[in-house]
Amino acid sequence: TQPTPERIESLLTRYDFNGAVCHIDAFGNGHINDTFRIVVAMPDGTTSLWILQRINTVVFQDVAALMNNISSVTAFMQKKIAARGGDPLRETLTLLPSTDGHIFITDECGDSWRVYRFIENATSFQSADSNIFYESARAFGNFLQLLSDYPAQTLTEIIPHFHDTPARFRAFIRAVKEDKLGRAASVRREIEFLLDRENEAAALTALLDEGKLPLRVTHNDTKLNNVLIDDRTGRGLCVIDLDTVMPGSALYDYGDSIRFGASTAAEDEPDLSRVEMSMDLFEAYTDGYLETAGSAMPPLEKELMPMGAKMMTLECGMRFLTDYLEGDHYFKIHREGQNLDRARTQLKLVADMESKWSDMQHIVARFS
Ligand code: ADP
Ligand code: MG
Ligand code: MG
Repeated sequence: TQPTPERIESLLTRYDFNGAVCHIDAFGNGHINDTFRIVVAMPDGTTSLWILQRINTVVFQDVAALMNNISSVTAFMQKKIAARGGDPLRETLTLLPSTDGHIFITDECGDSWRVYRFIENATSFQSADSNIFYESARAFGNFLQLLSDYPAQTLTEIIPHFHDTPARFRAFIRAVKEDKLGRAASVRREIEFLLDRENEAAALTALLDEGKLPLRVTHNDTKLNNVLIDDRTGRGLCVIDLDTVMPGSALYDYGDSIRFGASTAAEDEPDLSRVEMSMDLFEAYTDGYLETAGSAMPPLEKELMPMGAKMMTLECGMRFLTDYLEGDHYFKIHREGQNLDRARTQLKLVADMESKWSDMQHIVARFS
């Protein structure tokens, strides 16, 4: 249920905005949290803007751990940004603690809330041309760069085993064996495709475990609309939506951007002839990412960027197919067969990447 304006107003009395709250409205296109924009009239006649969010506690049970992750990572980035002469209040999120010093508060209904400074004159895009995609890559690359010496192992793993691809593979095999809905026979080709790639499932996780790939602060929701682009300069400004920040390999973050953003079709496109990985978009994103992150990335991590894209796409395809075999109880469907369509687009993308492999490697090498 939506919180009433009265409830929100009473929550806001627990914050000191240095002025009077004069307007509250629902804001943005997020699907996880409930986001509001707060307009405050300042004594000098100007206004200041704030973001109030109700944290989705169905998805995120340990709010305290999640907020600790966000608070320590943003504080760390702020110091870095200030030290290099940037604007720490625009280039990362800034939490406003409640008047009694809490980074989040819980109300009488049991809901948890937080307040961020509103980053003005910046836009979160829902879709992109290759230049905006490139700018989003610069922002995510900058995020890696800023956090490259953060002790990632001290963060809480908000979703344990999130990118444990071998474990995802085992779950897929289980679903095939159990075949609860008798669907396996009709997707033999898709199952074979995944089985053929079983020995690749640990390609990144093994290197991470052996310490050959750096354990990074990862974002885990590297969608285009989780970056703000500066309205004046048109440049990637700030990475937002830090709920799923946790330790892991940056290659899955990079890979997810490619998987979703460089595809020529929707994730659930039934007509596979429309599904490809656009080399132009791959190139634009890789260029932007390496421009800002490259100097913090060891050679092996860069070399494995194509593998990051493929692994992330393979993992998603595997998860969609697993869910289809188990009866669609994890990924919401709006029509019959939607998870199968989703699985098929991902596998098509994997096959397409494999056919473009040497071009992908050349592009990475060129920008490295
Ligand atoms: P969700 O997890 O629901 O996607 P987000 O944290 O991404 O939530 O917030 C939803 C939207 O609110 C964002 O896409 C962005 O448009 C806007 N937003 C969030 N934080 C800020 C901020 N500090 N300044 C300006 N806009 C913001
Ligand atoms: Mg978001
Ligand atoms: Mg989110």
